[in-house]
Amino acid sequence: MPLGTPLSFVLDFAGAPTESRQVILGGPMMGQAIATLDTPVTKGVSGVLVFRKTDMAARDAGKTYPCIKCGECVESCPMGLNPSALGMLAGKRQYDTMGSDYHLGDCFECGCCSYVCPSNIPLVQQFRVAKQVLREKAA
Ligand code: SF4
Ligand code: SF4
Repeated sequence: MPLGTPLSFVLDFAGAPTESRQVILGGPMMGQAIATLDTPVTKGVSGVLVFRKTDMAARDAGKTYPCIKCGECVESCPMGLNPSALGMLAGKRQYDTMGSDYHLGDCFECGCCSYVCPSNIPLVQQFRVAKQVLREKAA
């Protein structure tokens, strides 16, 4: 498809479900949700993921809950990090501690922790923000 094509056109052409509720550019782990189907396709778009209403119901429409310390995120992290602890520190904006004591720099943003979290906590998004803050402080 030509770059610049609005996603609404792409989804209609592909026959995507009309009751779609959320569209993600990229894959299920690292993709970014978009706010409007007027968003154009750019060269960085590797794929488009469309969730139907029923899909969203399974994830409670994006609602988040407190960490229940289930440990699923720790089990899933290929870098052996503690996303649960990192997420709690991110909530308190303790970005320096995340970097110095919890090896935030080793996180390569695969998104596994966010994907498995039953509380739907946007862990990897929090880590991206924390990294950006630390980068700006270091500049
Ligand atoms: S997977 Fe989610 S709920 Fe479970 S420990 Fe990690 S952050 Fe907490
Ligand atoms: S996003 Fe980072 S913290 Fe989460 S599983 Fe991947 S490497 Fe580990």
